[in-house]
Parts: sequence; C-alpha cells; structure tokens
Amino acid sequence: MKRAKKKQFHDFIAARGLKSTRQRDMVLDCFLSSDSHLSTEELYMKVRAKNSSIGYATVYRTLKLFAESGIAREIHFGDGQTRYEHVAEGEHHDHLVCTRCGSVQEFENEAIEKLQQEVADQFGFLVETHKMELYGICSKCRK
Ligand SMILES: [Zn+2]
Ligand SMILES: [Zn+2]
Ligand SMILES: [Zn+2]
Repeated sequence: MKRAKKKQFHDFIAARGLKSTRQRDMVLDCFLSSDSHLSTEELYMKVRAKNSSIGYATVYRTLKLFAESGIAREIHFGDGQTRYEHVAEGEHHDHLVCTRCGSVQEFENEAIEKLQQEVADQFGFLVETHKMELYGICSKCRK
C-alpha cells in the first residue's frame, strides 16, 4: 500500500519530467507514515523534526504534487486551512469535524450513501463525487 503509493508518485514525477529529489522523498515518507487530515503546517513540523533544511515552500509544493498525482486529496473544513488526506483505491468516507479541538473523525454509513443516491436519481442528477462534513463538538470535548 505504502509502496504502491510511492510508485504512483514516482511515476507521476517521471511523467511530468521532474526529477525525484531526496527532499521530496522525505516529505513523501513523512506524509505516508502520518495520520490522515494533515495541514501543510502539521506536515511541515513533522518534516522539520527530521530534517531542518527543508523549507515550508517545499512541503507546500510537494503536497500539491501529491494531490495532482492522486495519492492525496485536498480537504477543506471551513477554517481556512487546506488539509490533505491519503487516498485509498475504491475507499470512501465522510467526516465529523470538531469545531473546538479540530479533531476529525471518519465514518461511513451505507444508509446515508444510498439516500444521497436516491435524491440524485429524483433529480436525474449524475453524482460524480460528494463529501459530507458534520460540524460540532466531539465526544472528548463534550466531557
Ligand atoms: Zn459519503
Ligand atoms: Zn473536540
Ligand atoms: Zn478522511
């Protein structure tokens, strides 16, 4: 899985005529070994902890490349931060976003997915993609 993503990214880099660099590979390793829903800042801090010579701009640009290559997806939870999550083949999930601590819980609910499809059918609408985010206060913050 991790290896397949590395290959996918390296193939993308090669197809773009870009050279693969050590710095980019380090950012890739950091990204693949972290939890999903990472902001650029969060990944930057992780990368910095391993190699202080890598700049913010490199991390920023590399994350954009991850998204273009299809190994990551950009997500926005309305707080002005761009986050990135891993993309798994054929997998889909939606999010519960805590507005206090910023934690993100993933969920999947078949009934909801089906209902969404029914709504689209009603309108003769062809769904290509969707995202659902519920905002509120997580169980930890509610304690
Ligand atoms: Zn969904
Ligand atoms: Zn919370
Ligand atoms: Zn997610």
